[in-house]
Amino acid sequence: MAEQRSFRAEAVVLRHANWGEADRLLTLYTREQGKLRAIVKGARKIRSRKAGHVEPFTHITVQLAKARDIPIVTQVETLDAYLPLREDLIRTSYAAYMLELLDRFTYEEEGGNLALVRLLTDSLARLCKVAEPWLCVRYYEMRLLDHLGFRPQLFECANCRREIQAEDQFFSPSAGGVICPRCGQGLPGLWNISEEALKYLRHFQRSAFGEAARANPTPEAQKEVETLMQAYFTYLLERQLNTPGFLKKMREEPKRAA
Ligand SMILES: [Zn+2]
Repeated sequence: MAEQRSFRAEAVVLRHANWGEADRLLTLYTREQGKLRAIVKGARKIRSRKAGHVEPFTHITVQLAKARDIPIVTQVETLDAYLPLREDLIRTSYAAYMLELLDRFTYEEEGGNLALVRLLTDSLARLCKVAEPWLCVRYYEMRLLDHLGFRPQLFECANCRREIQAEDQFFSPSAGGVICPRCGQGLPGLWNISEEALKYLRHFQRSAFGEAARANPTPEAQKEVETLMQAYFTYLLERQLNTPGFLKKMREEPKRAA
């Protein structure tokens, strides 16, 4: 049976690394196949016409030729380079954080996820435009949890299932949601979450971006939401250590280093 030797993909460049004498190894998140690696031949030569298109964050279309191990990029076009992100260090670091989260929660050969590509490209585009990037990043985190299958339970207690009342609560990373003050007494491994911070998390979870962007949290609430979300991502990543995906990744590491 004739196998297709060449294929096209729409992708965001998650990262790149030097490969051999003059090439670059890209890690792409593609709409068609999810995460995959590809090589750009000669990308580090001064006259390379492809080099400018394969910087991290860039939204591209690529033509890939199947090779024995890693596919080769034969053509590449930029859809959006998100230039404002490259001109502002704060925005650059927020964009790097978004890419890193996606990179760490996804594995090669999982298949494509159109929703993840849309979320990433929409979020990078917003990050170019918004005056205050904080909200844009939190909104991305919340939607990313949805698409990865870790949507936190924020409207009823993750233990007794009763509706959450307007008061300070607990958050259980292992239960993946809020625990009411009654259930939380004496339970180990819970974090505090204020009524104020919970209000914003719920708002981001149930709103489209335009609606979510009208939120105006105090600096204290911003700090609390950010700290809690980052702790939850860290918790989930550590739990991932036991998944087959992680083991598979570890087995691939020696190949990458070679
Ligand atoms: Zn409860």
